[in-house]
Amino acid sequence: MGGTFDPIHIGHLVIAEEARAQFELETVVFVPSARPPHKVTMPHAPALDRLRMAELAVEGNRALNVSELEVKREGISYTIDTLRDLHGVYGSGAELFFIRGADAILEMLTWKDPEKLLAESKFIAATRPGYALEEIAGAIPEFNSAGQKARNLVFSMEIPALAISSTDIRERVCEGRPFRYLVPDTVWGYIIDKRLYVQR
Ligand code: ATP
Ligand code: MG
Repeated sequence: MGGTFDPIHIGHLVIAEEARAQFELETVVFVPSARPPHKVTMPHAPALDRLRMAELAVEGNRALNVSELEVKREGISYTIDTLRDLHGVYGSGAELFFIRGADAILEMLTWKDPEKLLAESKFIAATRPGYALEEIAGAIPEFNSAGQKARNLVFSMEIPALAISSTDIRERVCEGRPFRYLVPDTVWGYIIDKRLYVQR
């Protein structure tokens, strides 16, 4: 599961756990990305803090893991490279499912070379309030670059609607509004300790 996880929140964990159960996954790996340049002036957290928060969030659930792959690679990571690296880690025969919110999957499939991505991995699109899954169906190419029917490689997954986003959490911290139960307790403590997302 890719994302900036700035910070990781309950919505991300609900998606991971639901995907693990529905698709009988051995493990769900959170892969925090090196952050693409942002225009906004609101404070963001450094990559190592985002990694650490993800690690704190998965503590106690052995089926959930965190990978430093993209953060260590630095610069903007291409999903295709990450999927290939994951095959390197888990074996070329490993069955990968790339999990993202419906909004992010749609964006990826309308990018360039979705056929190549679909040759490396299956995709799971988690429904997010305000994003219609029918839109995704239209964005799936007919075949992947290996000539397989691509429609069978993209799955949608219903999750209980959670209108939680990292953006909203960052705003809440910044403005001193409550955010405690939107993230795991350990992550809440970490954000406060490290004074993340506050204007300095
Ligand atoms: P930001 O507001 O900074 O973009 P975010 O909450 O969208 O943060 P990301 O790290 O961008 O979190 O998301 C990682 C993945 O989780 C993305 O694919 C995103 O679509 C998905 N996601 C995040 N929150 C939800 C949610 N509440 N419901 C469904 N999908 C979600
Ligand atoms: Mg996002």
